[in-house]
Amino acid sequence: MSPHENPSGAGPVDPAANLASIKAEIETALKEAGRAPGSVAVTAVSKFHDADRILPVLEAGHRVFGENRVQEALAKWPALKEKYPDIELRLIGPLQTNKAKEAVAAFDVIESVDRPKLARILAGEMEKQDRRPTLYIQVNTGEEPQKAGIAPAEVGGFLTQCREEFGLEIEGLMCIPPAEDDPAPHFALLAKLAKSLGLPGLSMGMSGDYLIAAQLGATHVRIGTAIFGSRPAKEGITAA
Ligand SMILES: *Cc1c(COP(=O)(O)O)cnc(C)c1O
Repeated sequence: MSPHENPSGAGPVDPAANLASIKAEIETALKEAGRAPGSVAVTAVSKFHDADRILPVLEAGHRVFGENRVQEALAKWPALKEKYPDIELRLIGPLQTNKAKEAVAAFDVIESVDRPKLARILAGEMEKQDRRPTLYIQVNTGEEPQKAGIAPAEVGGFLTQCREEFGLEIEGLMCIPPAEDDPAPHFALLAKLAKSLGLPGLSMGMSGDYLIAAQLGATHVRIGTAIFGSRPAKEGITAA
């Protein structure tokens, strides 16, 4: 658990201050690991939090945010984007094909491409809308039956299919390690896979393990609780 977390939900939460100290910690971890300064971007995961909680982070100059549900993002972000047009919005949760159209319109990055049917429908929507969000393949590094993602052994084949059959460009890989596992071997596996496939993007690491992810090659860490405090009751992560 990060020291920034406020698991009880009690007491004041200062998202902008939390984010600033997280960024500083990441820079220290990068230095220790011999990685270039600034090589990890923080995706501030704002799911379940309303605009009041998000605004201080925007006012502090941060622009990269993650949401895990299309409907929630559509309800929250158009108004914020009007005020801050350079926001980068990343979809980090599972995407149903019947929401692909809205997702292509609303998101700048879709991290959860996890099956051929979705890839095909995204390709069609991108063509139709002439809008090309950056895409990541979600990898099920723990091969958990209930979790979305391509099995590690099948990522190469799926990448080729995305490129050759659907004409999609893929930026990188994303994973959510099993909650009960040591995340390090999962991050190392994802990094190795991305390297072998020549993919530059690596989205891995959350509130409890972002420093480990930064050391192991993440280019994006997805941090919610350690920035914004605990989420209000209805939790979405188990569905991811
Ligand atoms: C909610 C969520 C996160 C952020 O989790 P925290 O532990 O609150 O930092 C990261 N990635 C995904 C896919 C999520 O759904």
